[in-house]
Amino acid sequence: MMPASFPGLVDSHCHLDFPEFEGKLGEIREEMQANGVTHALCISVELAGFPKVLGLAERHDNFFASVGVHPDHEGEPVDAARLVELARHPRVVAIGETGLDYHRLSGDLEWQRERFRAHIRAARTSGKPLVIHTRDAAEDTLRIMREEGAGEIGGVMHCFTETQEVADAALALGFHISFSGIVTFKNAGQLKEVARTIPLERMLVETDAPYLAPVPHRGKTNRPGLVRHVGEEVARLRGITLEAVAEATSRNFFRLFNPG
Ligand SMILES: [Zn+2]
Ligand SMILES: [Zn+2]
Repeated sequence: MMPASFPGLVDSHCHLDFPEFEGKLGEIREEMQANGVTHALCISVELAGFPKVLGLAERHDNFFASVGVHPDHEGEPVDAARLVELARHPRVVAIGETGLDYHRLSGDLEWQRERFRAHIRAARTSGKPLVIHTRDAAEDTLRIMREEGAGEIGGVMHCFTETQEVADAALALGFHISFSGIVTFKNAGQLKEVARTIPLERMLVETDAPYLAPVPHRGKTNRPGLVRHVGEEVARLRGITLEAVAEATSRNFFRLFNPG
């Protein structure tokens, strides 16, 4: 159990609606509490699954929801107006996850870029920030963010694995950088350097549960309580306390997503 004075961590990105967690919500919430994880943002990856994501946020005060379609989901066209309509719900605090993924899919991915643009437009109209996923596509991601004025609404580059240069470009657009369990991996030298040097007031932490469990749980099903290991690694890298990381990243989360 964390001491009562612990400021609390927020898992800024998890997928608790996934089948891995069926019937396990009770133990997941207990584990969060035991690790001082006070809140979690449940991330939508497709509109068909959105009601389940929203349901989590409606039933639990400390869960919030996003609305969007993940770049890996082929064949789900979505227009900005539909996203804006769904984002009107007060428990929805973000648009996404959206972005570009040239790793999982190949061929003509113009549909992916068009859908990313639609999400940015929806975010600007609804006034809710973006949760952006980018993989093997940093250049196009940043270009589209600039072309669509993503900096006017802001958001987070989630599960960040890119270079310092990409981090700097995202920061220049006013975006936040979120670190996942990958930062705890031994071979993540370049990423550890980014986590050590970016401004603390632009940093978030996340699990991306059920994926990417941090060391020492690598390879297991990830869950929000384990975000503490991400916070501990960031604290170690920066030579500050876990409390300082928790305090800053939670403050950043509530300032960015401003949940009602
Ligand atoms: Zn993602
Ligand atoms: Zn995700």
